[in-house]
Amino acid sequence: MKNNIYNIIFSLLISVLIVVNADADFTKLIDNGDSNTKIDLTFIGSGFTSAEICDYISKVDQNISKMNTVNWFAIPSNATLLNVWRVDAISPTSGIDLAEAEINSQAQVTPYDVLIIIHNYNDQEGVRYPNIVDLYIYSHNYVVIAHELGHIIGKLDDEYYNSHVAWKCDGLSKRTINVHDKPSNEKWSDYISTQPYEGARFCEFGLWRPTENSIMRDSANTPAFNALGLKAMDIGAGKILGTIETNQPNLEIIGLNNNDIKSGVLEVAAIATDDSGIERIEFYWAKAGDTSKSIKIDKTEPYAVSIDTTRFVDGEYFLDTLAYDTNWNYTRVTRRFEVNNLHARVSQANPPKLIKVYPNPAKAKVLFQFAGEQSSEIEISIFNIAGELVSKITSDFVSEQPIIEWNVSGLVKSIYMYKIYYNKQVGESGKIMVSH
Ligand SMILES: [Zn+2]
Repeated sequence: MKNNIYNIIFSLLISVLIVVNADADFTKLIDNGDSNTKIDLTFIGSGFTSAEICDYISKVDQNISKMNTVNWFAIPSNATLLNVWRVDAISPTSGIDLAEAEINSQAQVTPYDVLIIIHNYNDQEGVRYPNIVDLYIYSHNYVVIAHELGHIIGKLDDEYYNSHVAWKCDGLSKRTINVHDKPSNEKWSDYISTQPYEGARFCEFGLWRPTENSIMRDSANTPAFNALGLKAMDIGAGKILGTIETNQPNLEIIGLNNNDIKSGVLEVAAIATDDSGIERIEFYWAKAGDTSKSIKIDKTEPYAVSIDTTRFVDGEYFLDTLAYDTNWNYTRVTRRFEVNNLHARVSQANPPKLIKVYPNPAKAKVLFQFAGEQSSEIEISIFNIAGELVSKITSDFVSEQPIIEWNVSGLVKSIYMYKIYYNKQVGESGKIMVSH
């Protein structure tokens, strides 16, 4: 949303810049009306000399002429939400970027919501939050722009995992719309009917995306948003334009206060209200120092979760509760508490045990399947044939039939040994063949 004072300042800037820097020409390529009621995209080149500026202009034109082949932009009512501007910044030296401040000041002759910089050399395209897209003269194209607008406007995450970018698979950001850590469809059932696919957000395992392909996964071959992405773009555009409310829901947590000490079964309820209606409540659980894991998505009142704390090792935990309204505004409440079942735990009548390790030989991942109901911390240590520790996986949450995954795709082909510990007590051990 933009206000009038913004435009007044821009008008002043424009007159100043025209006097000071006659090179900062700009053109409104697509004019759908007042910038206060539109999303303004501004292209600017960097590293183009006056002799090369035509290359930049033709690249911008090529991209704009194809944007409407991507489904969200092909919808006429969406296309008319956009204004597109082109700023022709002249660089003194070919292929060398203007200083960031120079780019910013020249781009600001237009009232942009999103700035798309085309650099006159080749590099990896990407988004710079909150609203800058970096493109490169030799490789950029309209599907990359649409993908990056999926991040900026739709707040969508990447749905691919085969990235050259070294990235730590560190769980979910709390605002993630289109990536989830559960292979069930409960979060997206209103938009996507199929089961989710594993692999997203640079992680091959443990995170799921809504559809096999989409522009957020493989923009070159699938230049289209999936149903969830289309909805996210609608909501995101509405929030930028001020036509969709951005008020966070009210959220109250019953049954758990900060620094409580809990044992046995923990019953937590959430009371959430919002003018637009509550869409869902998400409960996440984390052991201190670990990434959080989704435990329940509740779409019907009363919103509540029941957690048997005897399934966890004693220690410090966090319960995150997120309430989403129907416009995907959310409120998050975090409770820190301690689990102490030292005295509550009576017996290990049905201790955990390893029942299956598969596939073996393994190519990409090995699954360790356990049975048994009592609580335990399960630790799996993996050694190479030289007896060196290769990896250590711990899981504190023992569900009815927990499965712990071990990603072996980066390991050399060989035989590996595993040793399992339950609450630091030695359990089963065995061999796994990794064959790529
Ligand atoms: Zn991306």
